[in-house]
Amino acid sequence: MTREATPEDVDAAVAAAKTAFGKHPFQESDRPVRAALLNALAEQLAEARHDLVPIASRETHLGQDRLYGELLRTVRQLEMCAELAREGYWLDPVIDTPIDLPPPYGRPDIRRVNEALGPVAVFAASNFPFAFSVLGNDTVSAFATGCPVVLKAHPGHPETSAAVDTIAQAVLPAGALTVLYGTGYDANLRLVQAPDIQAAGFTGSLAGGRALQGAINERTVPIPFFGELGAVNPVLVLPAAARSRGETLGGLLAGGATVGMGQFCTNPGIIFRPADAVAFDAAFLAGVTEAPRHQLLNDRIAAGFETGATELAGLAGVSVLRDGADSAHHIFEISAGDFVRSARAREEVFGPATLLVSYEGEEDLIAAAATLEGSLTASLHCDPADDALADLIEPMLRRVAGRILYAGVSPGVALSDTMVHGGPYPSSTRPETSSVGALSLTRWTRPVAYQSCPARRLPTALDDANTLALMRRMNGQMTRGSVADATVCPTDIATRVKTWR
Ligand code: NAP
Repeated sequence: MTREATPEDVDAAVAAAKTAFGKHPFQESDRPVRAALLNALAEQLAEARHDLVPIASRETHLGQDRLYGELLRTVRQLEMCAELAREGYWLDPVIDTPIDLPPPYGRPDIRRVNEALGPVAVFAASNFPFAFSVLGNDTVSAFATGCPVVLKAHPGHPETSAAVDTIAQAVLPAGALTVLYGTGYDANLRLVQAPDIQAAGFTGSLAGGRALQGAINERTVPIPFFGELGAVNPVLVLPAAARSRGETLGGLLAGGATVGMGQFCTNPGIIFRPADAVAFDAAFLAGVTEAPRHQLLNDRIAAGFETGATELAGLAGVSVLRDGADSAHHIFEISAGDFVRSARAREEVFGPATLLVSYEGEEDLIAAAATLEGSLTASLHCDPADDALADLIEPMLRRVAGRILYAGVSPGVALSDTMVHGGPYPSSTRPETSSVGALSLTRWTRPVAYQSCPARRLPTALDDANTLALMRRMNGQMTRGSVADATVCPTDIATRVKTWR
């Protein structure tokens, strides 16, 4: 049922999530059960792929090749969250056994573990109808940790969402996942302001994210808001690399910029290259011109792109190298000096557009790089001969990006424990986290410390015997051992306390 969610629908969804939280399969001991449910969802999605992909392709205009790939990625995300749910990495259990000394060296028995926050709200993205949608990574990472989810489907792909919802409901217990439909901003605000919602995840526009963050800030009890609000994903081609492999890099980056009509959150939107990078430019422009043309995701995205591209074309110092008539992709060029002077040039134009920035020398590039703002990724293409300049540039990129690439292209987010898909604002509202990879689970938890807790009342993850065979930090050492194996209190500390006065 994809009718517009009413206020009553929002309240009922939140109530169902609240009822489900803390009961089977959301209890601490249910991690293997949740893992099995996630694997079952992965199997069901894979089985339904030939039904799902055509629906998504019709609704989003994304090609079937891309959508089969995205669906496989969604299946892998489910499997990965199942593995993490079973293994318990995100529990991060820590045990400090007592030290029988006066403060500050002494302490009681204290044990800490991450626990699920409770019911959470998730807003599906327009540009990933599977991977950041009904059973996308926000939903399944929250479920893995024990949080029921209320999900707002994106109005750009309601039938895809409903088809995945039907699969999910056949597998999951009541209240685990409730999907709301429609385009009601009021419903969205009501959802994030519901007192029983404990966190929200979002992928979308700066304006949408700011509206939801504003509504959260008005709550009597504010909650964490994990918003991904846009990124320009700068690419810096340093001089020696441009000379030695300009043609290869131009072709590579043309592929990265045009994939999916530039509608990836990690799309490289701004490329810095030397003003005389002739080979790079020739290969980049040729590659871009050859890229296939598709309709954009939906009318809202198309209108936003049109506005953004027109504004960019009108900025002082911007020339238009490709305007959409001769290629699907729009290419703009600006000097590094004008780039520094124009805050608007540094903003994202979501869709098929790239801004090439020409720099004359190292100082030009350094001044331009210093103006960059938070981004999901930053790419640094450098040869050994560029290393002195790279030494100056790389710390600037580390300051603004969640992931730094030295090769390849940023669209392409590997599903690995190490992945950071986040970064400083506006790429993420919470730069300490990631919405992909192992860190994505920790978002939906908070640490709880148990002090002098009797053994019979401890969470299993913190028990003496280490029944769950978790890797735990115990008295400062990583171990899978039991508390009986713990060593404490080096004697020099004991001596220091005795001789302090
Ligand atoms: P969007 O307009 O931000 O919508 C995303 C979700 O936020 C939708 O569910 C929408 O509600 C809700 N929303 C938006 N404005 C709201 C408001 N003022 N109050 C309450 N809820 C609000 O994003 P979009 O539809 O995906 O695309 C629009 C733009 O987002 C693009 O042009 C692009 O700039 C950006 N975008 C960025 C990324 C990224 O990875 N950072 C990805 C996709 C899009 P409804 O469901 O009711 O419409």
